[in-house]
Amino acid sequence: MMAYRGKTRLVDGFTTLRATQRHGGERKYSIRSESDDAAKTDKESAASKSGAPQPRKSFGRTVMPTQNEIVCYACGFEFVMRGRAESTQCPKCGARLSLKDETVTGACPDEIITAGKVRLTKSAILDGGQITANDIIVEGTVKSGTLRAYQTLELGPGAAIPEDMIQTKNLRIAAEASFDFARDLEFHDVDVFGELKANLKATGRVVVHAGGHLLGKLESEHLIVEDGAGLNADVIVQAHKDEEEEPDSEDASSEADIRKTA
Ligand SMILES: [Zn+2]
Repeated sequence: MMAYRGKTRLVDGFTTLRATQRHGGERKYSIRSESDDAAKTDKESAASKSGAPQPRKSFGRTVMPTQNEIVCYACGFEFVMRGRAESTQCPKCGARLSLKDETVTGACPDEIITAGKVRLTKSAILDGGQITANDIIVEGTVKSGTLRAYQTLELGPGAAIPEDMIQTKNLRIAAEASFDFARDLEFHDVDVFGELKANLKATGRVVVHAGGHLLGKLESEHLIVEDGAGLNADVIVQAHKDEEEEPDSEDASSEADIRKTA
């Protein structure tokens, strides 16, 4: 079943970013993908390999737990907020934004709007309501309504959701979860901890984590297959260097155009 098992084969900017984060003992996956961050981290990673000491502060905003990327649900503006709060104000449109995290069990309320996180537990049922949040975790049943994650939608093992209701920037398939999507899907980042079969296009990076398995088709600029992960897919990895590459980047391998047929 596994076409490929082994150490990470494709090395690009985000592979080294992950390596740097592991080096620092961090396990956070919400990575900013701006080219300045990526290029800077490449240099840090190179320094790390050469044995140079890594000052803790050099990890910067990408892994600071008290800094949150917020998307304004009134105007769509993205900004970074320091610290924790119940609410904040969008610096662009001035809307007052709730940052409350909500956990739903049983029937969902008609409407939840927050720039925080909403979790639908195993017993939760969304049938006709509207949920808008930065991050949504679905472990229960979604029948109808609107579900919109401005950042990440995570699908857990018990999640039942119609494919056409998936509206998110980033997709995460939790460990033990298994999904088989027939429709073509496009996201920014995709993290696979469980099993995902899909026709997938990712404008950011795709990570198949240890224990995870990706099947189907994949087109992405950055692919990371961790040690212990499975990949059985028709894969195209092609970097758009005009957008991503700095002139002094040491990351030559990301220009690779790799096709792999299972
Ligand atoms: Zn706004």
